[in-house]
Amino acid sequence: MSGARRPGRNHLFVPGPTNVPDRVLRAMHVPMEDHRSSDFPKLTLPIYERMKKIFKTKDGQVIIFPSSGTGAWEAALTNTRAPGDKVLIARFGQFSHLWGELAKRHGLDVIVQEEEWGTGANPDRIEEALRADKNHEIKGVLVVHNETATGVTSDVAAVRRALDAAKHPSLLYVDGVSSIGSIDFRFDEWGVDLAITGSQKGLMLPAGLGIVCASKKAIAAIKDDNCRRAYFDLNDQIKANATGYFPYTPALPLLYGLREALEILDEEGLENVFARHHHLAGGARAAVGAWGLKLCAKAPKWHSDTVSAIMVPAGFNGADVIDVAYKRYNLALGAGLSQVAGKLFRIGHLGDLNELMLLGAIAGAEMAMRDTGIEVELGSGVGAAQEHFRGGMQAKVKQVAAE
Ligand code: PLP
Repeated sequence: MSGARRPGRNHLFVPGPTNVPDRVLRAMHVPMEDHRSSDFPKLTLPIYERMKKIFKTKDGQVIIFPSSGTGAWEAALTNTRAPGDKVLIARFGQFSHLWGELAKRHGLDVIVQEEEWGTGANPDRIEEALRADKNHEIKGVLVVHNETATGVTSDVAAVRRALDAAKHPSLLYVDGVSSIGSIDFRFDEWGVDLAITGSQKGLMLPAGLGIVCASKKAIAAIKDDNCRRAYFDLNDQIKANATGYFPYTPALPLLYGLREALEILDEEGLENVFARHHHLAGGARAAVGAWGLKLCAKAPKWHSDTVSAIMVPAGFNGADVIDVAYKRYNLALGAGLSQVAGKLFRIGHLGDLNELMLLGAIAGAEMAMRDTGIEVELGSGVGAAQEHFRGGMQAKVKQVAAE
């Protein structure tokens, strides 16, 4: 559509980047300032404290730096692991694949535990591998909490129990890029050692910040002779951050935006944010059912509350649906990646989102499917989602009336 004016808003329904609330956009519209001034820590220090609430940690160390989620993966691994260290990763989608590949490129000895795409981490198999590792050579267990490529959420608490049951001292690394701030995440309770996220999903900001939360055990594992790094050396950052400063020029507007986003999450209440994501995801799933289609997630226990990956019927290409949705309806849907390229399209339902916005995406997906020849009844998905949302709303209304 280059050159043609496209009136109205673009409907952004990729599972990140997500919609940036107007308040956050305005908060980022700031003049530059001296990041070494005596006032600067007044902005930064409270952000670290508030981020701890998002991770649900008391003593975890939050580190925020210019990067995307991939840089946060890299920082978490290179600081705490040395080349040749064994790490175990469950692979069940493109992001768990890419994280393992990144680890290999840093010289780690990566044991890949393959799971069917559409399922997630298998705590029993993880426990078995850890029990078999009598000499405790495995130094890290890596889990993608929410596999954005397939719309699958894994049970991190169960993975923690697997480590404990095997009495294994390995660190637990968790990618929460598309879960943290949208799906319940409990750093302390689940005994996570390194949690990783980025700014552009649940935190409702543009991409540009990598965020890591490290346990005491993880910080003790940061050694000079681990993998090579300089800019991403977490010790440099932790030292400077302690007084509210950075060892480099920080991404100032993003920090102002993060402060506002944290305020917004606080106003809604984190538990309400999780409940809203669950409610919205239920509407998307109701639509998929009404279309007679299937999710990539193989069973309800894997259903993600932030992204639904929807399988297109055999003989159709999900990429066509995405292309038509974008060109005709100004709707951005997520693509199928790697193994599932063409087999599905994804609706991201995370961040600053409500029922009517999601109904727009469902309506657009329905039209785009029909335009590409997929036999779905127009209005069927929208109607099913509306019923779901009304049911949810009525429960809310009753609850409010009872209060
Ligand atoms: N991990 C997950 C689960 C993701 O969804 C993504 C990106 O979508 C990444 C990691 C990589 O993050 P980024 O694209 O911010 O580098």
